[in-house]
Amino acid sequence: MSTAQAADVFTTIDNPADLTTDKIYCANCVHCKLIRSKTGSGSQYCLRVRCDAGMWKKKLGEEKIYKYFTVARRSPESCSFYEPMGDPREFIKELKKTLPIKDEVYTGSN
Ligand code: SF4
Repeated sequence: MSTAQAADVFTTIDNPADLTTDKIYCANCVHCKLIRSKTGSGSQYCLRVRCDAGMWKKKLGEEKIYKYFTVARRSPESCSFYEPMGDPREFIKELKKTLPIKDEVYTGSN
């Protein structure tokens, strides 16, 4: 499987026992970026995540962007661009405590 294909294969992290230090979690990677996506009118936006290494792609090659609340699920089997920002187990545990449980709309310009 090529790296690009591997990056499309994600697993769901529901069981804390599944959190291992050698597993790759995109949320713990320096290339996983939080962005705002304008929605509705005015200053409303939703939070999205993108891989700035270009590893998240749709079947036809366009960039794939995920809803922020799903970011803890992004766990490719391998990725040659993975640059961890810290201990993955601790990072994901803390992240899951603060992640919204659904897509939320925010208001503001900052
Ligand atoms: S570079 Fe790889 S590990 Fe990092 S966010 Fe992109 S797909 Fe995930």
